[in-house]
Amino acid sequence: MGTARRAAILNMATSAYEMDLEVANGIISLDANGRWLIGEHDLALWLKDHLGEEMVIILGSLEDDRPVATRSCKTCGRDFTDLECPHCRASRLRLRGEP
Ligand SMILES: [Zn+2]
Repeated sequence: MGTARRAAILNMATSAYEMDLEVANGIISLDANGRWLIGEHDLALWLKDHLGEEMVIILGSLEDDRPVATRSCKTCGRDFTDLECPHCRASRLRLRGEP
């Protein structure tokens, strides 16, 4: 089940990219100068670009192996673990002419 959750989190990140949101992924570390990093991203610089803006930050651990609930799609009836049915999502993107 752990891989289903990991895949769902990565799919969510892909959806965020597609919405032109900023997504950082990587290992969180604190360097010798006290800078917080997510992978190569300097968290303080990232936040500074949005100083004063109302933001949403979502953190998803790829090491989180809690089971993911399986849901049935109300449109096509397929079972899925993502935020939305991947089959219907692909169909929708195809109809819009997106890859
Ligand atoms: Zn569906």
